[in-house]
Amino acid sequence: MDFFLDVVLPIPLERLFTYKISAEEADFIKPGMRIAVPFGRSKIYTALAYNVHDNAPVAYDAKEIFQILDQKPLVNPTQLRHWEWIAQYYMCTLGEVIRSALPSAFLLESETLVLPNKEAQVNEMELADDEFLIFEALQHQTALKIGEISDIVDKKHVLSLVNRLVQKGVVVQKEELFDAYKPKLVRYIQLSEEYDDESKLEMLLEKLSRAPKQSQVVLSLFQIKAESKKPVPISKLEKESGTSRAVIKSLVDKKVLKEYHIRKDRVNYDEEQDESIKVVLNEHQTKALGAIQSNFEQNKPVLLHGVTSSGKTEVYIKLIQQCLDQGEQALYLLPEIALTLQLINRLRRYFGSKVAVYHSKYSIHERVEVWNNVLNNEEKAQIVIGARSSLFLPFSKLGLVIVDEEHENSFKQFDPAPRYHARDTALVLASYHKANTVLGSATPSIESMDNAKRGKYGYAAIHSRYGNVMLPDINLVDIKEASRKKKMKGHFSETLINAITEALELGEQIILFQNRRGFAPVVECTTCGHVAQCPNCDVSLTYHQRPNQLRCHYCGYNMALQLACLACGSNTLDKKGFGTEQIQEELKQLFPEVVVGRMDLDTTRGKYAYEKLISSFENQEMDILVGTQMVTKGLDFRNVSLVGIMNADTMLNYPDYRAHERCFQMLTQVAGRAGRTQKRGKVLIQTYNPYHQILQQVTTNDYQKMFEEQYYEREQFKYPPVVRIIKITLKDKDFNKLNEAAQWLTDSLKNVLRLQVLGPEYPPVARIRRDYLKNILIKIPRSQSAPQIKNSIKRIEKSFNAISKYKSVRLIYNVDHI
Ligand code: ADP
Ligand code: ZN
Ligand code: ZN
Repeated sequence: MDFFLDVVLPIPLERLFTYKISAEEADFIKPGMRIAVPFGRSKIYTALAYNVHDNAPVAYDAKEIFQILDQKPLVNPTQLRHWEWIAQYYMCTLGEVIRSALPSAFLLESETLVLPNKEAQVNEMELADDEFLIFEALQHQTALKIGEISDIVDKKHVLSLVNRLVQKGVVVQKEELFDAYKPKLVRYIQLSEEYDDESKLEMLLEKLSRAPKQSQVVLSLFQIKAESKKPVPISKLEKESGTSRAVIKSLVDKKVLKEYHIRKDRVNYDEEQDESIKVVLNEHQTKALGAIQSNFEQNKPVLLHGVTSSGKTEVYIKLIQQCLDQGEQALYLLPEIALTLQLINRLRRYFGSKVAVYHSKYSIHERVEVWNNVLNNEEKAQIVIGARSSLFLPFSKLGLVIVDEEHENSFKQFDPAPRYHARDTALVLASYHKANTVLGSATPSIESMDNAKRGKYGYAAIHSRYGNVMLPDINLVDIKEASRKKKMKGHFSETLINAITEALELGEQIILFQNRRGFAPVVECTTCGHVAQCPNCDVSLTYHQRPNQLRCHYCGYNMALQLACLACGSNTLDKKGFGTEQIQEELKQLFPEVVVGRMDLDTTRGKYAYEKLISSFENQEMDILVGTQMVTKGLDFRNVSLVGIMNADTMLNYPDYRAHERCFQMLTQVAGRAGRTQKRGKVLIQTYNPYHQILQQVTTNDYQKMFEEQYYEREQFKYPPVVRIIKITLKDKDFNKLNEAAQWLTDSLKNVLRLQVLGPEYPPVARIRRDYLKNILIKIPRSQSAPQIKNSIKRIEKSFNAISKYKSVRLIYNVDHI
């Protein structure tokens, strides 16, 4: 009998591919193992085994697999089922989910290598010029990649050249797989066995007496060994002895010292668990915990609505403890890695080394290690803290999922596919594992609150801050009025300046929030009105003072700031609007003595950049922290008494049905950073619209009112959660073709679906990276079956793809677009 294997390739193709396997292979291969398979002309891909069967494919001759890469499955059946759900729900392929889900180190790459043919007797006279060049290069190198051959002969297409060389027997080809994951090896050092006892050591030191540096190394090694029995890394010996690697190496050469390697787990932490710390919940936390548990008994996810600083984390800690006591794994999802440092430290105090961290700023090596630890259900990965991608880990016994700050938009992946919402995807994951779920927030999303009100989720609330600290005192500052009375210095009202001065005098810290980075969003010529635009995108360029540059926040395009207007040549350029950089600059003028830090995308690019900023603010090395929305999220600073919002209006005026909800959440969250200890914190919101209902609701901390008003609007205008939406974006470099294609697609959707289809419409930024964009919005009432509608859309896509003139137009689905 013939055996076949269906695999999923990590590419955006819908179907499975079938390969031929032997009977032994059929016996060995389990779904979820990685299999290297040939695909296309000469490429080797890493695919995931899906199922073994005995039906030969009809349409093509099955090729043989190249290699089985795993001894046991890397991905378990629950994961595969979950990933299929994601592909179906978010309208992408399983391959795309796999590409996103697996650490890239697991997806081996193939590269064609050309090697010299050692057996061949080559007659150089018979080689053409380009052939000779390669032949010669291979006398000095063991192998060449196709790209390197291209470089040597300075030609783009070299496959025929390589073929000629193969035919003449000069070279051989090898399809080789490179394993991108290399365990980290640490180099250790020890004394050779023959110097084990002390008498021999004395002789040795005598022998080394004319080499003081070498004897220093030996003595240092002895000292280190006396203090602890642990292996001694070379780096440590080098430091302690105050000598160099060269000295140590000369001792290794003399066989006095011996070098050895130990494979080191990168994700090890030295901190010890502190057994003595016990969490004692206050009465409100205890009540919330009780409510959560009784909902868990009915298998309901729970929304934990606790005001800022109410101590939600402590409630989570209790739940995690209970989960571990059951012998199950816990997953703690956070929207933003900015938050992880503070949380990791808190959780490690209770759970020690059981806490693992997983997010995209980790290296591929670290991610592979966490993956393997979770797969093997190791002690040190019982609790995983991570950003959204951690819900792809190979959990086998998941008991609890916490989605903290569940209202955050960054839980939704924007690009590339799968464009999934981590909160909703986590709920499905939990249901597959029969695990409990808590969604926590001080400002729940309208969706989750709606689900709680309709009984789909349980609900638990904590209305007061831990330790009976009062919620901050929030006041609005009318900057229209202040400007009229000439009481503004730059972007600071007198009220805000006074409050900052007062806080500084008391030695307290201040957070200032401005939801824009850079110095000024727009540079406009006051003579002709010209605004510098990005050549690739439909946006104006943002001025950054350092370096003195105009930059596009969509594609990264930049140019030096011109002194004269590019259109009319006059030097009447005026900077309009303001970003974090300008606020920092103005603060230096207003408070020259004060240390001001800045937290935005520009200052947090490095791996530890966030952590450094946060801990230096925590340690009070800075007085004022200026930042974008990054400063609004869940951070717990003890000494911040004042929070200032530089301008609330841009958030209110954003053209999006969620703008008001978002503005409420952002302001309430950033306000919540103030006064987290005994003294009542103060918040000042500068605005041109002090009577706006959302700002009023923020100052009175009236979540319910906000919810009701926003819900009413969503009902009136048919937006989520009243309907579900699917956004289709069309992209093309050709403006006319895009318009035509978008119209065709809209008409077909309207004809077939009999639903509300809006558009096609240009988004606010209608061109990005030279691509024109157009959106279509489909609204699905709750009463209708979404899977069926998605199938119909996919069918329409097939007809669309069959139209040859639209071939270049790309379609992007965004289900539950936010
Ligand atoms: P939230 O996440 O709800 O904003 P946190 O969990 O950060 O609030 O708690 C606010 C502060 O109160 C933290 O510094 C935390 O250590 C402290 N806290 C909360 N609950 C307790 C408790 N039961 N025992 C001791 N400290 C607590
Ligand atoms: Zn001009
Ligand atoms: Zn651009």
